[in-house]
Amino acid sequence: MRGRNRIPEESLAAARAAVSSRVIRVPFSDCHYFDGVLGPGGYGRFSVHGRRFPAHRLAYEAAHGAIPSGPPDNVVMHTCDERSCVNPDHLVLGTQAENAADMSRKGRARHGAKHYASKYSAEVVLEVKTRLARGENGASIARELGCSAPWVHHVKSGRARRLG
Ligand SMILES: [Zn+2]
Repeated sequence: MRGRNRIPEESLAAARAAVSSRVIRVPFSDCHYFDGVLGPGGYGRFSVHGRRFPAHRLAYEAAHGAIPSGPPDNVVMHTCDERSCVNPDHLVLGTQAENAADMSRKGRARHGAKHYASKYSAEVVLEVKTRLARGENGASIARELGCSAPWVHHVKSGRARRLG
């Protein structure tokens, strides 16, 4: 298990390129949403040089350097409560215990503003879904409602979380 998810030094440049090529920005959020397949738990995955890495861990290492190879402080946590976020500024090292405490605290507070789907109000999300269901074009919906096309795409593809 030791170092299983570490990125080899020679792959770091490729890792940085992979991170920056797979990011969606949405208005009113500093989060960098991973634009790709999400694995179990809602975390993204990157392939670099044939190896797969959890996206947030890879993003952390690409920006800040190697994650310690073993406990206690080898867990990458999100300060923003967005598992698919790969903004290095939102990623900090923590311990398993801190992570568990953090998850439980955020679990209790899991409503509203931090939610991906509610970067806009529930009304806007609903409006987007309604228009998509009517067959309207994503780009024109984005234009008319003043939100970004990638975000509309996220709502459409179901990657935006359901509203709680
Ligand atoms: Zn974030």
